[in-house]
Amino acid sequence: MIVTLVVVAAVAGLILVGAVAWREHRHFVVAEDNRRRDDELLRRQQGELSENETRLRLSLDTISQGVVIADPAGNVLYRNPFALPYAEARHGEALVEAAVAELMTEAAQGRVVEREVELFGPPRQTLFVSALPLRLDGRDYGSVALIDDITEPQRLDTMRRDFVANISHELRTPMGALSLLAETLAGETDPEVASRLAARVQAEAIRLSDIMDDLLELSRIESNEASERAPVAIQHVISDALSRAKPTAEEKEVPIETALPALDLVVRADRRQLTSAVFNLLDNAVKYSEADRPVRVTTRLEGDWVEVEVRDQGYGIPPRHQERIFERFYQVDRSRERTGGGVGLGLAIVRHVANNHGGEVRVESTEGEGSSFTLAVPMADLLQPNGAQP
Ligand code: ADP
Repeated sequence: MIVTLVVVAAVAGLILVGAVAWREHRHFVVAEDNRRRDDELLRRQQGELSENETRLRLSLDTISQGVVIADPAGNVLYRNPFALPYAEARHGEALVEAAVAELMTEAAQGRVVEREVELFGPPRQTLFVSALPLRLDGRDYGSVALIDDITEPQRLDTMRRDFVANISHELRTPMGALSLLAETLAGETDPEVASRLAARVQAEAIRLSDIMDDLLELSRIESNEASERAPVAIQHVISDALSRAKPTAEEKEVPIETALPALDLVVRADRRQLTSAVFNLLDNAVKYSEADRPVRVTTRLEGDWVEVEVRDQGYGIPPRHQERIFERFYQVDRSRERTGGGVGLGLAIVRHVANNHGGEVRVESTEGEGSSFTLAVPMADLLQPNGAQP
């Protein structure tokens, strides 16, 4: 009996001890589980945070705007690659870094500030620097500076304004002449004088319409609007351009000679655009030559390029003007051009056409001896023995 009691007590004790130990163990396991879960959560949160930080950082690193971030004391904490060159300041770039530092100091006082900085280069650049305070719930986190390169938008804006000014100027001259001629014509009783005045009215009206045509052509070519690409035999382009240039050439008594290769050279092109380019080169060659000075058009294959060269024995172009003549409205000698009737859009058209076709236009010229303009466009991958698609 006593033995039984002792055994029962011992077993009960064992069970109790076991239960207590089990409970302890459970507690430990649960606590351990919780801790692990907390750690996991923290790790995951930290992981997400650093992933987001990486994302943020990568975004800032790739944007084409300079970003500089400073703490409240003004110490730079981060600078993205776009803003880096200004920190390694040399020459003009030091100006940008000075502007950034100055604006950030002002921004640290809670103001949004901005300034334009001109770098005289080369290359010439205009930068727009702005700085903003970084504040949240009344706490100061420092400031951020943003650097934008506004050189290109500014250039386009200036070009647009110049363009409008130039058009107005070019249109005003024939418009003024027309109005004056019409006024005189209205009071003219002598039929001979009246007929002379009427001829001048007509000439000015033609001039106006030529300007409008050039403007429309340039704008169409610039926007590459409705541009079609098809295999075109260069020979057809030359003959189209020749028939357009002939009336002026005949009037001025400037002969045009052509030298075509034995094979038809075929380019993939917008025929209308290409014809317009060759016509403008021919028209200039005639316009800027004296009578009996022949103009020669040569077509040849140079490597993979089809080249059309228009060579004249005219006035020539001084070297300092040769780079600029392809700009819109640029004229070497406005008084001479006025008599010839140009407005300075022809070569801008030629250059656009060349660019649109992945080609180029080159000039060689000697004052008093003549000029040679070469339009080069890539050859199409088919070379036909005869008469490609007209
Ligand atoms: P424009 O309508 O005045 O002819 P372009 O753009 O065709 O305008 O040409 C720009 C300027 O380049 C002309 O005003 C002229 O001074 C010069 N130029 C162009 N082609 C020739 C040429 N073949 N010979 C001499 N000068 C030329």
